[in-house]
Amino acid sequence: MSELKRDKIKYIRDRAKSAYVKDEECYICGAKEDLDFHHFFSVTALLDKWIKERKLSINTAEDMMEMRDEFIEAHYDEIYNQTVTLCHRHHLKLHSIYGKKPTLVTGPKQKGWVEKRRIKEYGLLE
Ligand SMILES: [Zn+2]
Ligand SMILES: [Zn+2]
Repeated sequence: MSELKRDKIKYIRDRAKSAYVKDEECYICGAKEDLDFHHFFSVTALLDKWIKERKLSINTAEDMMEMRDEFIEAHYDEIYNQTVTLCHRHHLKLHSIYGKKPTLVTGPKQKGWVEKRRIKEYGLLE
């Protein structure tokens, strides 16, 4: 049980990951190496919320398999679109501000931070 609890996110990742499209460069600074994929809305937090709200009892791998497609469909935007590719340095910086496991309410703030950093990096020439 506790094993499954810790690994539930793995079932979602295994299913969703194939469609994650990492960009070729960091959105903030344009670095092309050491790139990470960041979700503005933590998939783990979304999953916990979904399970709690629906009072689902997830006890087996089968329980997870059964619910994951519905979960992914319901959170398509957060999982696939509300994301950004960052270099490791900027990814760490973001998490140093918003925490290791950012809460869902900070999603829009994280986006604002990323946009601001990008403008700073590229200047306001355009
Ligand atoms: Zn960067
Ligand atoms: Zn991240």
